[in-house]
Amino acid sequence: MSARYTTRILIPSDQDTYRCATQALQRGDVVAIPTETVYGLAGNAFDPDALDKIFIAKERPAMNPLILHIASAQAQTVQDLADAAFIDISEIPEPIIDALNRVINAFWPGPLTLVLPRHTRIPDRLTGGLDTVALRVPAHPVAQKLISSTFPLAAPSANRSGRISPTSALAVYDELKGRIPFIIDGDACEVGVESSILAYIDQGLRLLRPGAISLKELRRESGLKILSTQKHPAEVRAPGMLQSHYAPDTPVKIFRNESELMGLLKNCSTPKAGVLLLEPPSEAELLSLLRSRGYVFEVLSESRDLTEAARQLFATLRKLDQQDLGLLFAQVPPQDQGLGQAIVFFVAIFRKE
Ligand code: AMP
Ligand code: MG
Repeated sequence: MSARYTTRILIPSDQDTYRCATQALQRGDVVAIPTETVYGLAGNAFDPDALDKIFIAKERPAMNPLILHIASAQAQTVQDLADAAFIDISEIPEPIIDALNRVINAFWPGPLTLVLPRHTRIPDRLTGGLDTVALRVPAHPVAQKLISSTFPLAAPSANRSGRISPTSALAVYDELKGRIPFIIDGDACEVGVESSILAYIDQGLRLLRPGAISLKELRRESGLKILSTQKHPAEVRAPGMLQSHYAPDTPVKIFRNESELMGLLKNCSTPKAGVLLLEPPSEAELLSLLRSRGYVFEVLSESRDLTEAARQLFATLRKLDQQDLGLLFAQVPPQDQGLGQAIVFFVAIFRKE
């Protein structure tokens, strides 16, 4: 794809930023915006030309649906979503509506996407022809302000398709320079991994993609059974789960603890490898082995905090992916701890073996 735009980075404190971004969106252009999960490439969700521009800039397959980002005022309850003509509420049973209202109350605005039966006015281009629509109320003030002053925005992650999601304006620039007119710099993303996707399909609630909000939290707030993706692979319904969706170029090998890593390193003959650790190495032997081999290593959280590890995950993978490594060893945490399931999911999906 040839460069069409001179891409400008705008800062929220500059008076002209919102005027530039709003005008661009209103004329059907796309703008990369910060959200609390990752940066999004936003366009008018009801303008098919704007949606085309998103798919073209990202080189995204048409069957991969986009998430509709909406204003908090239109999304206090499931009834609000129906009143705003986003969803068809007639297909959702009362107990599910009650559960969803509790979930909305607990997590919106925030890093949770709901997949619900779509209203007929939702464009096919947005949903990839599915009979459901994915909705989210982003908490980031820049995203909220833009949506409130324009219209609902389609906003997939602001990376070229199949690559790591960007968590800073600079990462967006690396991905999309020349392809889009504006990036709003809202600093590093607070959450750092994608939203959790909770769907009402086949008469029940299912977690289609683990993310910032854990299955445990969703079960607690909803008070209902939620099936997890592990039990019900949903690749068809959530194309974002396709193996290559979040993949870096470097092949990735997963490990759980330092002794497993030591075993892998002893058998590794790759001259240039990298190691992604959740916490600082505790074994002196490991540290000296890494140093003697000249292997690059990065620690996601000095204080062993999974929330911080998730925040750093994509930026660190991006950094390691740019170093022409032959192999990357990546540590994953236990799935049942906080953001553990999301980290395992996003790291595991990188794997190309
Ligand atoms: P992203 O690329 O991070 O914006 O996430 C978009 C992802 O949301 C898609 O790749 C799907 O996995 C999921 N998604 C969007 N719309 C739907 C839908 N109607 N049904 C199921 N999953 C959806
Ligand atoms: Mg994405």
